Amino acid sequence: MKYNSFMLHNFKNIPQLKTVSPEIIEAIEIVGSVLPFKTNNYVIDNLINWKNVPDDPMFKLTFPQKDMLIPEHYAKMKSVIDSGSDKQTIKKAADEIRLQLNPHPAGQLEHNVPIIEGEKLYGMQHKYRETVLFFPSQGQTCHAYCTFCFRWPQFVGIEDLKFASKEAELLVKYVKDHKEVTDVLFTGGDPLIMKTKNLETYIRPLLDANIEHLKNIRIGSKALAYWPYRFITDDDADDLLNLFEDVKRAGKHLAFMAHFNHPAELEGDAVAEAIKRILRTGAVIRTQSPVLKHINDSAETWAEMIKKQVVLGCIPYYMFIARNTGAQHYFSIPLVEAWNIFRKTYQSVSGICRTLRGPSMSCLPGKVQILGVAEIKDEKVMVFRMIQGRNPDWAARPFFAKYDEKAIWYTDLKPAFGEEKFFFTDELNKFITPAKVEYNFE
Ligand SMILES: *Cc1c(COP(=O)(O)O)cnc(C)c1O
Ligand code: SF4
Repeated sequence: MKYNSFMLHNFKNIPQLKTVSPEIIEAIEIVGSVLPFKTNNYVIDNLINWKNVPDDPMFKLTFPQKDMLIPEHYAKMKSVIDSGSDKQTIKKAADEIRLQLNPHPAGQLEHNVPIIEGEKLYGMQHKYRETVLFFPSQGQTCHAYCTFCFRWPQFVGIEDLKFASKEAELLVKYVKDHKEVTDVLFTGGDPLIMKTKNLETYIRPLLDANIEHLKNIRIGSKALAYWPYRFITDDDADDLLNLFEDVKRAGKHLAFMAHFNHPAELEGDAVAEAIKRILRTGAVIRTQSPVLKHINDSAETWAEMIKKQVVLGCIPYYMFIARNTGAQHYFSIPLVEAWNIFRKTYQSVSGICRTLRGPSMSCLPGKVQILGVAEIKDEKVMVFRMIQGRNPDWAARPFFAKYDEKAIWYTDLKPAFGEEKFFFTDELNKFITPAKVEYNFE
């Protein structure tokens, strides 16, 4: 299958758009100049139900929508574009808005950046003891962009390919030196945007180094949803599957962390075939998604999605809370509502689908899961625990916050029972300089 991508400069060539209203086209152009926009022929022809546009969830997941910008920002961009401004001026206006959306708080990576011989390794993050995240410099884009994602502005521009092998060398050294690390998670963007030969330059050295304590190689990817031909008909699809087999042969587990946001992404022969081919290599596919308003904010949608995943041989893994950045006002739902979606989903599927964990916020202290709402001695509270903690000792300890049906993020929470702080607050503040506590980053 031939891959055709569409972005701001050529999206008007998409035949299906001929049937949508001029207001929708205008919104794509205006919002798409601020928020990420890229899609492709597979998404357009197979995932979007054009009869349901503009309400179709896959349309909203990949095409910018008017309400993703607040009216003031929309009006500003519209006037800049309508007045025929040059590229530079448009970019400057867009950048100003992006800054106000706080897309990537300054120092987002600062606290989790590993250090080797006094040098910071900016392509890596090491927050949780067992798992190192690795962002290959060539993997900082995707087969299509999700409108809820705000990662890409940080990564565009990091396209210097020369350092690939150098990066891999440092990764190997770091993992070797850190006996507590069992997992390396390749992430992005999407590492499977890379040609197999490039991905190999990162993975082979890790295997060749024979690191006993390294057990799991994880690859986080949305390619199954947005471009399943990556595993079927792309030139180097078979090479990729061979690489997966070699991971297995080296005695490691290949954990494919697949992003799926909607059951529509699991329909059709291509994704089923791609999953089958990946599983045949001995890899295991685990799935994850945030809960997103307009896209998948119902228990029925989630139940349908995870049931399909299980039938296809995947293991549901994480339900995340949408981050409090970017078009947050558009996608966010309150924590209590997310929990209700989780609860109803969980209650309506069989035990083998209940490997789903969440809803979980990836925030400053760790991966914070809302366990539910409870009433304790006449006080209505929200119950949480950390699935991962910045300090490993914090994991699996329940804690309580005042009930707040509007809270959408960890920073909205106040300790219950008249307490002044959570059990981890003091220690967290020692990790982080006070000026940065307001920020929420991975
Ligand atoms: C989610 C995440 C991981 C992986 O956590 P698991 O619970 O092991 O899947 C690792 N590092 C960071 C920064 C994360 O956010
Ligand atoms: S696939 Fe992942 S990294 Fe890429 S745009 Fe979507 S959410 Fe962002």
